[in-house]
Amino acid sequence: MQDREHIYIGGAWVRPMREAAPLAVVNPATARAIARVPACSGEDVATAAAAARAALAAWSALTPVQRAAYLQQIAQGLKARADELARLITSEVGTPIKQCGRLQVAGPLYAWGQYARLAAEFAFESEVGHSLVVREPVGVIAAITPWNYPLHQVTCKVAPALAAGCTVVLKPAETAPLSALLLAEVIHAAGLPAGVFNLVTGDGPGVGEALVTHPEVDMVSFTGSTAAGKRIAALCAPSVKRLALELGGKSAAVVLDDADFAAAAKGIVAACFQNAGQTCSAHTRMLVPASAYAQIKPLVAAAAASYAAGDPMDEATRLGPIANQRQLERVRAAIAQGQASGAELVAGGGPLPTGGFFVAPTVFGQVDPASPLAREEIFGPVLSIISYRDEAHAVALANDSDYGLAGGVWSADVQRAVRVARQMRTGQVDINGAPFNIQAPFGGHKQSGLGRENGVYGMEEFLELKSIQMPLPPKAA
Ligand code: NDP
Repeated sequence: MQDREHIYIGGAWVRPMREAAPLAVVNPATARAIARVPACSGEDVATAAAAARAALAAWSALTPVQRAAYLQQIAQGLKARADELARLITSEVGTPIKQCGRLQVAGPLYAWGQYARLAAEFAFESEVGHSLVVREPVGVIAAITPWNYPLHQVTCKVAPALAAGCTVVLKPAETAPLSALLLAEVIHAAGLPAGVFNLVTGDGPGVGEALVTHPEVDMVSFTGSTAAGKRIAALCAPSVKRLALELGGKSAAVVLDDADFAAAAKGIVAACFQNAGQTCSAHTRMLVPASAYAQIKPLVAAAAASYAAGDPMDEATRLGPIANQRQLERVRAAIAQGQASGAELVAGGGPLPTGGFFVAPTVFGQVDPASPLAREEIFGPVLSIISYRDEAHAVALANDSDYGLAGGVWSADVQRAVRVARQMRTGQVDINGAPFNIQAPFGGHKQSGLGRENGVYGMEEFLELKSIQMPLPPKAA
C-alpha cells in the first residue's frame, strides 16, 4: 500500500488542513486498494489558490525562454521515470502494460518538450496597424482532470498553462491521482518556483467545486463528463470565469462502400476498444453501407475476438479492466440496455478474469440510430454498427448526435474521404485509421466542449489578448 499523506502547495509537500478519512485508490484488475491519498477541503483549495496567485507576477514576468528551461527540465525528469509511470498508470487505470508506455506516457513526455519549444518560439507580441497586440497569461488556472488518461489530461493543461505564464492548481481524479502526484515530485525536483504549480486531491463536488468557484481562480480548464462540464460552466457563469471544456463524445466512423472492409473493421474496433473504450474520442458508432452489413459483420466479430479481457500487467493482454467500480456499473447497465433494445449481439459475453472490473468486448449490429446505444456515451468496450443507405445518409447519421468530438472515414479514395470528413461536425476526423497527432488541435463541437487542447492551439487557450494603441505620428502641416 502506497499511502500519500501530503499535497503539494506553495512549493512544499504539506498535510491537508483538516483531518479527514483518506481516499482509496483501487487497482481495477484486482479491486484491491493500492494507495490512499488525502481528502482535501475548501481550506486547502484556498491556500493553493493563494499560493498560485502569489506566484503569478514573478512567473509571468520571466521570459518565455526562462519558462521553457523549467519545462524542459520537467520533460527530462518524467523521461527518467517513464517505466515507473507506465506501471503506476497500469495499476491505477488498468491500461494494458504493453500499450501503457505508448498510450499513457510517451505523449505527455513529448508534450512537455513540445511546450518548452513552443514557449521559446511563440510570438507573444505582434503589430496590427498602429496597435501592439500582446498575448498575456490568463492568470491562475484551475485544472480538473479525469482518470482515463491521467498523465496526458494533466499535461494537456498544466504544460501549456505554465508555458503561457499562468500558474496552476490541479485537482486530478480521485480514482487515479498517483501519476499526478509523481508529476508533482518531478516538478518539485525541477525547481519550479514555489506556488507556480499546486496539487490538491479530493472529490469533484467538494474540492473540485471549491476550486472552480474560488475568486482567485481566473480560468477553469476541465476534462470529463458533459454533465460535470455543464455544472462547472454554470458555476463559472456568475463571475464570467474563462472556461475550457473537453467533454464526451459518440464519434462515428463512416465506412464508405469502396473501403477496405477488413482494414476498416480492424481499425474501428481498435479505435473503439483502446483503453477498454474509455477514450473520449473513441469511435463507438460504425456506420456501414446497408448492402455490405452481412459482409462486414463477421470481420468486426473476428477483430473483437482478439480483445479478450485479461490481466493488464500481462504483456499479451490487449483489453484491461474498466478503470473503476462506478464506471463498471455504468458500462454493464449500457450493455444490458443494448441487449434489451433488440439490437443484434455480434460479439460479447463469455468468461472473464475474476476479481477485477472486467467486461467482455461487445459489438451490437443493426443498432437503431435513435436508441440510447447509438446516442449515449458508454465509455467502455462497446461498439454499435449502424447501417446507412447512401453517402448523404451516412453524413446525416454521423452528425445526428449531441456530441461532435471526433470521427473517421474509410475509403479507397482519399479525396472522397476528405470530402465526407469536411461535412462532419466534429473537432477531428481520421482518414483510414490515421493516428492521433499531438500537435494538432483537439476538442469538440456541440456538447463535446469549448476550446482546443494540444500544440500551439492548447497554449493559446491560456493567453488573453490585449491591444495597445500606439500614438499616431503627427500629421504633416
Ligand atoms: P466526471 O466528469 O465526474 O469527473 C471528471 C473530473 O471532474 C474528476 O476529477 C471529478 O472529480 C471532477 N468533477 C466531477 N464533478 C465535478 C464538479 N461538480 N465540480 C468540479 N469537478 C468535478 O467523470 P466520471 O469519473 O464520473 O465519469 C463519468 C462519465 O464521464 C464517463 O462515463 C464518461 O462518459 C465521461 N468521461 C469523459 C472523459 C473525457 O475524457 N472526456 C473522461 C472521464 C469520463 P472526482 O471524480 O475526483 O470526484
